[in-house]
Amino acid sequence: MPELPEMETYRQLLIPRLAGKAVTGVQIEREKSINVPAADFTAAVLGVRVQGISRRAKHLLFHMEQNRVLLLHLMLGGAMVWGTPEERPNRTVQVELAFGGDRLYFIGLRLGYLHLHQEEEAVRLLRKLGPEPFDPAFTEREFIGLFGQKRGYLKTALVDQSVLSGIGNCYSDEICFTAGILPQRKLDSLSEEELVRLFQAMRSTLSEAASHGGYMDIPLFKGDTLTGGFDPLCRVYDREGEPCVRCGTAIARVDFASKKSFSCPGCQH
Ligand SMILES: [Zn+2]
Repeated sequence: MPELPEMETYRQLLIPRLAGKAVTGVQIEREKSINVPAADFTAAVLGVRVQGISRRAKHLLFHMEQNRVLLLHLMLGGAMVWGTPEERPNRTVQVELAFGGDRLYFIGLRLGYLHLHQEEEAVRLLRKLGPEPFDPAFTEREFIGLFGQKRGYLKTALVDQSVLSGIGNCYSDEICFTAGILPQRKLDSLSEEELVRLFQAMRSTLSEAASHGGYMDIPLFKGDTLTGGFDPLCRVYDREGEPCVRCGTAIARVDFASKKSFSCPGCQH
């Protein structure tokens, strides 16, 4: 499932392509991917310009004229492709938005969705999300306060969107690896020094991943060399049995709390 770095990559790549452009066509192949009847969705966005794109947690928000927002969550398996009708992806497209000669194709939206809301409604829907890792107000002190008073597994808290926004299965493991801490540790066993390491690892890992384009394996457009650049740089996620880049020990998969998790038993404690 795309996480903060993947959604940031989409945002950065889509802003110069979409900002100021009006929707010139709408094709809904799967009504379950939207939240209103297809005709209403089409009537609400056709001819309306995209003013900007923002990200909150794992959502992208396409801010449109007339106080409208398209709220996207790709969930598991969702992706976007930008291109001409000739570059249409060779698989089922659930929603297609035309911007003149170009199209934004939404694919793999099984659990994912593209919902139409008023701005205030979108703000209200996202209110319960935890702090953003890069919010300047979310300091090391805040992080220690937040995690220091929680119970349960470290990984479970890292992926809980009501605790912290934008982190999922992959980056929770990568952050724990960078910090040298096992994801199955109990929160009440973590020292303050370890929490500081986790906070720093959270920021460094997510910014490194975002600057390399995240791990998505589908390029956004033809010639896109950014998207997916972090995939070969993942140190532990989905690397069971491979030697640790830090100490050479084989990466282990440990499942707990119905989550799969990858870590190095040699240099994570
Ligand atoms: Zn190691």
